[in-house]
Amino acid sequence: MPLIVHENASLLHYNTFGMAMRARYFCEVDTLELLKEALNFAAKKSLIPFIIGGGSNIVLLRDLDTLVIHIKLKGILFEKDQINVMAGENWHQFVRQMIKQEHFGLENLSYIPGSVGGAPIQNIGAYGAEISERLISVVALDRTSGEELFLSNADCQFGYRDSIFKHSLRNQLVITSITLGLDKGFSPILDYVDLKKEFGDRNDVSALEISDALIKIRTEKLPDPSKQGNVGSFFKNPIVSSEWLAQQKENVNIENPRKVKGGYFKIPAALLVSEAGLKGKAVGDAMVSKKHALVLTNLGSASSEDLRSLIEIVQQEVKAKFEVELEVEPEMVF
Ligand SMILES: Cc1cc2nc3c(=O)[nH]c(=O)nc-3n(C[C@H](O)[C@H](O)[C@H](O)COP(=O)(O)OP(=O)(O)OC[C@H]3O[C@@H](n4cnc5c(N)ncnc54)[C@H](O)[C@@H]3O)c2cc1C
Repeated sequence: MPLIVHENASLLHYNTFGMAMRARYFCEVDTLELLKEALNFAAKKSLIPFIIGGGSNIVLLRDLDTLVIHIKLKGILFEKDQINVMAGENWHQFVRQMIKQEHFGLENLSYIPGSVGGAPIQNIGAYGAEISERLISVVALDRTSGEELFLSNADCQFGYRDSIFKHSLRNQLVITSITLGLDKGFSPILDYVDLKKEFGDRNDVSALEISDALIKIRTEKLPDPSKQGNVGSFFKNPIVSSEWLAQQKENVNIENPRKVKGGYFKIPAALLVSEAGLKGKAVGDAMVSKKHALVLTNLGSASSEDLRSLIEIVQQEVKAKFEVELEVEPEMVF
């Protein structure tokens, strides 16, 4: 199949926030050959392509005057105790397949939308697990030269919802596959409240049960992007000092702040947004979800201006009430 490039293509169905933006050029690639052809196409036009996987962590605030490449590379390869998976595989389906084939360690990351290639970009995490704990390496192509690169886990410089792909390598590479190290034996991570509530003191919980429980919990908690545009958590959970916790004790009741490195604590941004009275706050068609305060939603035809204003209001009001700066989590495409 030759490369098919569409001009002035709609991106409406390629971003879960549902922004009606357009791409100057758009193509889908399901083989490495087509991907290389697409990179060549962009290079000839002196464009740096933009990559879309599941579109579940991008917020398109403008049309993209470049080539947008939708990654559909598929395949899973087992090499002894390592698993190499292509970037276009659906993350949740991959996690389910691993559980069914008794490769454990990803179950707490069940039901996160998006592609495998998108997962390392912000070091996806949920319910006490992060992909960085399992990722061995990444294979990628340089978006400009097409040269193949190999990055080890250390090269990725993972942090909380963070990696080198958001900094010095931002929009520089196309991840084509990742290699993970999973366990043959299963040890459950159940120390998050929702999972504790679900399983109590049981010590015989299976990986499939955790995954099933998370599908249920997440469906109840989060708005469904196919019904109401969203990108999951819009703000990172802030890291605060013990002095802040002491100062704000009267202001906000933070149960079980989670200890992180350096004597700091991670606290739920959702609580701050909710305590600031912002649930349901709307500007035009952009609204703070009534279901989950950390999720901003698109009620139908939110404009860039609606969304920018809403983000500013949330950040300003939380700062005024709690002296905390909320940092945006998804990739904002200005
Ligand atoms: C309802 C909902 C719940 C969510 N829950 C969570 C959660 O619990 N934890 C969490 O961490 N995230 C969560 N997210 C955010 C999102 O699902 C993840 O960040 C996901 O990994 C994004 O993958 P994607 O393929 O959709 O990336 P996209 O949105 O397509 O892209 C995101 C960024 O990665 C880049 N990118 C994507 N694929 C590639 C590639 N192959 N090579 C190079 N760059 C690439 C894009 O250019 C962009 O900069 C949630 C989102 C939604 C809508």
